[in-house]
Formats: sequence, C-alpha cells, structure tokens
Amino acid sequence: MNAHADHPVLVIIDPQKDFCHGGALPVPGGDEIVPAVNRLSAHHDHVIVTQDWHTPGHASFASTHGRQPYETIELAYGSQVLWPDHCVQGTDGAAFCDGLDLRNAELVLRKGFRPGIDSYSAFRENDRKTPTGLGGYLRERGFTRIVFCGLAFDFCVLWSALDARAEGFAAAVVEDGCRAIDLEGSADAARREMSAAGIELVRAGP
Ligand SMILES: [Zn+2]
Repeated sequence: MNAHADHPVLVIIDPQKDFCHGGALPVPGGDEIVPAVNRLSAHHDHVIVTQDWHTPGHASFASTHGRQPYETIELAYGSQVLWPDHCVQGTDGAAFCDGLDLRNAELVLRKGFRPGIDSYSAFRENDRKTPTGLGGYLRERGFTRIVFCGLAFDFCVLWSALDARAEGFAAAVVEDGCRAIDLEGSADAARREMSAAGIELVRAGP
C-alpha cells in the first residue's frame, strides 16, 4: 500500500516565465533555478509541478484595484499583497520557464484560478480554507515526504512547505533550487519560519 514511503515526491512550485527575467513579476535570479531543478527532477522518482493560473482581473492584481504593485490591501479573507498582472491563464507568461525539463512530471496542479482568491500555497488558497486537493492526492498515493523547490522561496514555496507540515508531511526545501522576492526581509523571515516548523533547509549543490 504505502509503496512510496521511502521515496520523497519533488514538488516544483510555479517555475513560470512571468517569474523569470523579462516576465511580468520577475523574481531576482528566477531563471537561475532551471539547471538545479532539472537535476533535482532527474533524481526523483516522483515529480509534481504547480502552475500559478489567474483569471484576467484577478483579485491579487494591483491593476484590479487601481493600486500600485507591492502595496498590501485587505480583501474579504484578510490581507493580500498586490502584484503586477502575472500568470494569466493561457498566456505565454503563464507557461513554464524555457529550458525546464518536466517530462517526468506526474501532475500539473494549477492554483489561483478563482477570481477572488489568491493561492500562494499548493495546498490551501489564501483564505486558508479552500483546499486545492493536493493533500488528498499525495496521501492517497502514499507519499509521506515532500521536497520543495521553485519560485518564490519566501511566498509560494514558504506557504506550501508550511502547509505540508500542517498536513503531517515531512518537508524539505532545496534553497539553491529556489529564488526569493525578498520584500522587506521576507527571505530571512521565511528561513526562520521554515526552521521553526521543522522544515529541513538543504542544498542541491553544483
Ligand atoms: Zn500569482
């Protein structure tokens, strides 16, 4: 039954063009994760990838509210950082980064597709209530350990790893397989939160 207990599943968070150089919401050095992610992917028996996938006029876009990107506002479910329009469904910016080899990915999980709710985490949307279904999927397949990499370290990777722990999975984050947005020290804060939650911070190496 629990065939995968010894085999961690690699979850690659949002490795998309809009988060890379020249994209709508570039994460500094975002493109640089591609070689590390390809190596990680080749060395894992099971690979899942998430894809940020927003409707036009999404609630997380500053333009939707007539505000400036990176301001924080209160939405019905709580505070939300406002972002430039990014990863709009079906656009080139929502596609996966050039050079990424995802041929062995077993699942592409799209998130953030509800117009009124953002979803940093691969497990629960930003209202912290609406499940994406990933937890049930992983449990049904017998996975107990998750290794995370992707974009961005201090937002979607952080929230996904914290939720993985909350759902009872062992979790590790490969730091050199991630890059951070680092708004007001958020990268260091993310490292502290991960450590406090029992998330292992590891490096893939060159
Ligand atoms: Zn997004």
